[in-house]
Amino acid sequence: MAHVKLHIPGPVEVSEKTFKAFCSPMIGHRGQGYKDLVAKIQPQLQALLGTKQLVYLSTSSAWGVMEGALRNLTQKKVLCCMKGAFSDKWLDVAKRCGKDAEGLQVPWGSPIRAEAIDAKLATGQFDSLTLIHNETSTGTMSPVAEIAALKAKYPDVMFIVDAVSSMTAVPLNFDTLGIDVLLAGTQKAFALPPGLTVFTCSPAALAKAATAKDRGYYFDFIEFDKNAKENMTPSTPSISHTYALASKLDEFFAEGLEARYARHKQTNQMTRDWAAKHGFTLFPEAGFESITLTCVNNGAKPGGRVVDAAKLQKFVKEQGFLIDGGYGKIKGTTFRLSNMGDETPATMNQLYAALDSAMAKL
Ligand SMILES: *Cc1c(COP(=O)(O)O)cnc(C)c1O
Repeated sequence: MAHVKLHIPGPVEVSEKTFKAFCSPMIGHRGQGYKDLVAKIQPQLQALLGTKQLVYLSTSSAWGVMEGALRNLTQKKVLCCMKGAFSDKWLDVAKRCGKDAEGLQVPWGSPIRAEAIDAKLATGQFDSLTLIHNETSTGTMSPVAEIAALKAKYPDVMFIVDAVSSMTAVPLNFDTLGIDVLLAGTQKAFALPPGLTVFTCSPAALAKAATAKDRGYYFDFIEFDKNAKENMTPSTPSISHTYALASKLDEFFAEGLEARYARHKQTNQMTRDWAAKHGFTLFPEAGFESITLTCVNNGAKPGGRVVDAAKLQKFVKEQGFLIDGGYGKIKGTTFRLSNMGDETPATMNQLYAALDSAMAKL
């Protein structure tokens, strides 16, 4: 069957080159070969995340580390900042872990603002908070620097930040932000196959995790740190992913991070222009639109054009591209177009051409 190219917001299209690296011959994960591989990529990961801390490799999807962060860092109560399907889910996950948890809910499509978080943290009830930088379900980015600045006022609160669909596409400087955990699954903006999550922790987070009695084993941050000091992981990692990540990181630095950020900005603007050209409005609040995907309003909010999203998706798929027909409660009343990963103006133009011809049939 002919491959349908992914323009959904994760997993995204994986290049031949990445797959080739992924399929490198297997080596032992306690041997010098693997340690050398991790030693090579560690400084690249640190540069990418803007940190002097070690960056850890977790063989899991993002939810593993998202849940693990709560197990390691929430002892009193966690504030879950909620603005879409993934961030809303984090509250549920906290409760399933037996944690005392409270949601700070804003309407889907709105960002989370520092002022609202400040009011909650001022109660003194919370020792941790969860925040999704780029809420993938609604295509909305929250102002992470503005929120991270609250750390100065609440140094004992652990700031856990999910950058699953933004890391590598926008600058995220962990040490400057001063947050406690930054994580990303790599099947989105990294354009790797699903199954690997990268994350880092502040010294304060590691100190706090060390006092958590029920942090488990698989996602024990102290185990990750201890092993990472020797370029290893607590349990057998996906060695294939480590090879693929090494290949990808070389690509990032060959392109240059600034150029990579600029490319995402450009291709995202092109997608917004495509939507406007067809009379659509965007779902997110103006000024907080994601730059890695575009969540097009298709009736979820007043204004703009409305089409049959399922048909649009079908007609585009017939031309070899998979787009997303909306997520959760805004399925069908929005649709999403991803410009994450390796996409360039030239490859995005191929998608717009397919979308144009599909629109002509609606
Ligand atoms: C996709 C996504 C997740 C969940 O990732 P999994 O790989 O399915 O665990 C979490 N957060 C955000 C922002 C996402 O886009």
